[in-house]
This record gives sequence, C-alpha cells and structure tokens, in this order.
Amino acid sequence: MNRAKVMGRTDAPLLVCVLLAACSADPGEATRDGRLLIDGGTVVVMDEAGTVLEGGAVLVEGDAIAGLLDEADPRPSGVPVLDATGHLVIPGLVNTHGHAAMSLFRGLADDMPLMTWLDDHIFPAEAALVDPEFVYWGTLLSSIEMLKSGTTTFADMYYFRDDAARAVIDAGIRAVLGPHVIGFPAPDFGSPEASLRDAAQFLERYRDHPTLVPGTAAHSLYTTSLDDVRETARLAIDFGAPFQIHAAEDASEFATANELTGMGVVEALASIGALRPGTVLAHAIYLSEEDIARIAAGGAGISHNPESNLKLGIRRAAPVVEALAAGIPVGLGTDGAASNNNLDLFDEMDTAAKLHKFTNGDPTALPAETVFRMATMGGARVLNLDDRIGSLEPGKRADIVLLDTRRAGLTPLYHVYSHLVYAARGSDVSTVLVNGRIVVRDGRILTVDEAEAMERAHAFGARVRAVVERVATEAGTAVGGPPP
Ligand SMILES: [Zn+2]
Repeated sequence: MNRAKVMGRTDAPLLVCVLLAACSADPGEATRDGRLLIDGGTVVVMDEAGTVLEGGAVLVEGDAIAGLLDEADPRPSGVPVLDATGHLVIPGLVNTHGHAAMSLFRGLADDMPLMTWLDDHIFPAEAALVDPEFVYWGTLLSSIEMLKSGTTTFADMYYFRDDAARAVIDAGIRAVLGPHVIGFPAPDFGSPEASLRDAAQFLERYRDHPTLVPGTAAHSLYTTSLDDVRETARLAIDFGAPFQIHAAEDASEFATANELTGMGVVEALASIGALRPGTVLAHAIYLSEEDIARIAAGGAGISHNPESNLKLGIRRAAPVVEALAAGIPVGLGTDGAASNNNLDLFDEMDTAAKLHKFTNGDPTALPAETVFRMATMGGARVLNLDDRIGSLEPGKRADIVLLDTRRAGLTPLYHVYSHLVYAARGSDVSTVLVNGRIVVRDGRILTVDEAEAMERAHAFGARVRAVVERVATEAGTAVGGPPP
C-alpha cells in the first residue's frame, strides 16, 4: 500500500454551521449546501502514484472533490461527516459498454451464437416491443442496478435517446448516450438518415449537462454502411463528443465487413478518421498487430467485455495485455443485461483478471491493480472523460463509492486491490455519490422508486413473453423456459 502526502485545500475557509440542525442533517442534504467530509475509511485514490490513504478523508464541495486528508490531518470543523469506518472509499466505476434498456430482455434467450441470438431473438423482439416507455423503464432499471453495485458512469448504445436521457437524469447516474444508427429500420427511426436528421440538436441540448454526456453511436460495420458510420462519427467529432461502435467482436463480422468495405474493421474505421480519442471500440477481439498500432496511433479506446464474450463462446480473448502495452486506453464493459447477464462491474473485474491469466498461461498477467485501474481511470480515458472522473483527485467530480468491508467475505483485508477485484461484489457497496449528490445510501437508492421500477419491469416481462412466443411459433422453434 502506498501511503501518500496530503493533497487538496485543507486550509481553505471552512463552512460554518450557523444552525445546529444543519450540522446534524442527513449528509445527502448537506452536500447541496456545500461540503461533506467522507471520513475514516481507506481511500483508494487511483492517481498516477496509486495513492491509498488509510483512515483518510475526502472533502466534497458541491459537485467536486475539494481535497484529500491523511489520517493525521486536522479535520475541518462544521462540515457534515459521512462516516466511512470499515469502508473502502473508491472512485465510482465506469462501465464503458452496454445497452441499458435491454435489462428487460435479461434471460430471454441464452446459450446460442451471437448472430442467431441477434437475428432470431433480439432484433424481432426489439421490433415488436421497444418504444419510449420500454426504454425509459428499462434504462431506469439498469441505472438502479448499476448505481447500487458501484457504477457511477456508463456508456449506453440504444434507441429512443430522449427517453433514455430522462431515465438517467431521474436516476442521477452519469451516462454517455445519444443518437444511435443501425442500417435497418430501428424501433425509433426508420433509417440512419432519419436518426441523424435532428441528432445535432440532442448533442447541443445536453452539451453542458452536469451528468449526461451526449455522444453518438453506430451499431457496427456488419449492420451499418461505412458512409453512415462516417456521418455518425463525424457528428461526434464536431461536438468533441464520444463515439461508440461494436468492433471486431466475432469472427464472422470480419468477413462481412470485408465484403461490405473491402477492408478489415479497424482499417475501415481508420479510413474514415474514426479512431480518435473518445471513440469506444466495444469488444475489439479480432485485432491484428497492425490494428493495435492503428488504434494506438489514432487514440481510440477499447471497451473490454469479457463476460459477454465468454457467454457467446467467442473463442478468443481481446488482446488486452497487448493493447495496454501499446498505450491504448482500455476500460471494462458489461454489455447489455441480455448477454451477460448482470451489470455488476465487480464481477467483470474478477472475470477479466482471470480470463487473461488463463489465455496467457501466466498468473502475473493483468494484476488486480491494473484491472481496478481499467474499471476506473481506464474507463474514464476510453470515454475521454478522464479530466472529470475515474479517480478521487481534487478538482474532479465527486463520483464516489463506499464499499463495506465488514463482511465475512472481505475480512481480514491485506491488499485493497485484491479485495476489490477478487473478493468484493456489487452487493458490498453501501453508499454512492454522483456529482456530489448521495444517490445510494446504506444500499438503498434515494433518487427513484425502485419498487415501482420493478413493478413496471414485471409488466413488461409479460408483454415480452407473449411476443417471443408468437415469434417462436411463426419460426417453428421453441423459445424460453416455463412462465416465471
Ligand atoms: Zn453491445
């Protein structure tokens, strides 16, 4: 463990609690007025030096981290305290790839190849069912799941962007989302041109939003023409916004992309200038050495989704060790809940670390600290948001997670990164702040009504089942198990 010097503005004038009631108020309320001291935990800063402060404190001021205190430093008086005794205080996790509303399809169709899963199950179900309400409630459900398991930022790629935006703003989670194109009629727009027509307005509307980061996405080069991908990437470049695309996920994808573009997937993306900082290449499994060099030269990032890849039987692991060695930003992603089947990044960290030890035949491959960095600063770099999130350094947004280590499965604690990657689960998260606001407290979501979201999800489940049974009957195949 690396103990560190104190950073931050501990000598700044302190907020004076004029009213006693203000000092003893719920810290969730107190942050709105100004300051909150998260005190007594082990602070895992994730700065360059890998600073860990045992018995340290994080001073939050408004939406930002104002300072870090070591155990011995005097505490500011009159600042409401959030007691972090027995907790790890970590940067909020960053999920760099997913399809949030697909939580309503979780467990619908498993154990089949990617193209069968998409063409015979997901695309028909989406065509019949996905509408603004579906996207709002599905995105809200996923936002609740992610916040409660320590994810404070996620990148989303789905339909009905305005409704997804409403959900993430209601939930209080930080999200990258926006116009999405796919080369066939989608539930929200009949064509890529229609999706792009008013797309700039969306990016303009949320340009300065505190937690919604507008960006664009193209589904992939096997579903969408290179011209449409170029237009979608161009829009993101014009706004300095993130751009997401599935890339080099499946062996068959390479052949299709080659047929359509005459180039490999990464080569094609390079040819349209899309490999720049803020471009998220989801999966990026089938990469050649030249591809890795192209991505490194352009500055794009990779979203590594090991559980989704394993579940789909992709017979290769993304070349994460090589990508990191080439200086490419690499973050972790869960992919949608229909292909994982949870949105818990602690699970994803554990799997990522073990997958690369297995495929490299080397237990030293991807050590725990490297993997935790991928889930925090790595993800922030992939989304080009590393000036705002990914670490607990003063000046960054206060996206902070408290993980309770006073559990049988986490006691005793020798190495924080070991516990965070190999032992902890999302259910060990107790309290979460996003942008300085407490959104989860003692395991309860404070921003939205979780029971209502689950009730709505349950109702959508009945509709999904009815449609899937109809599609299966038409196709002459049996789908799904017994009724829930
Ligand atoms: Zn995906």
